[in-house]
Amino acid sequence: MTLKVDLKQFLDENGNELALTAQARTVFNFISKIVLAVTEQIAQPLVEIDLKCATRAENLNCEGSIEASYQTQNLIHWQCDCCEANGSISNWKFSKWDKQLRVLH
Ligand SMILES: [Zn+2]
Repeated sequence: MTLKVDLKQFLDENGNELALTAQARTVFNFISKIVLAVTEQIAQPLVEIDLKCATRAENLNCEGSIEASYQTQNLIHWQCDCCEANGSISNWKFSKWDKQLRVLH
């Protein structure tokens, strides 16, 4: 199953994090770290993220690592190197976690 996340869901109109529930914060921390890592190494076809698969939610015990790639202007895709877990992130562009933007400026 693919976990589709819209980064904007977690942000207010100024691009700051909303007050999140513990569960939402866990997902947000996971997603924002992927966006940071991928946009820092945007030329890489596949970026290894310093994240364990199980980090994305409680009650997961997969020890696999997460790798991610820049797909299109609007989408980052991530997957576990061990299990079936994968997902996409949209609306990450121009967010605080888009490192690419800072380099261009
Ligand atoms: Zn996994």
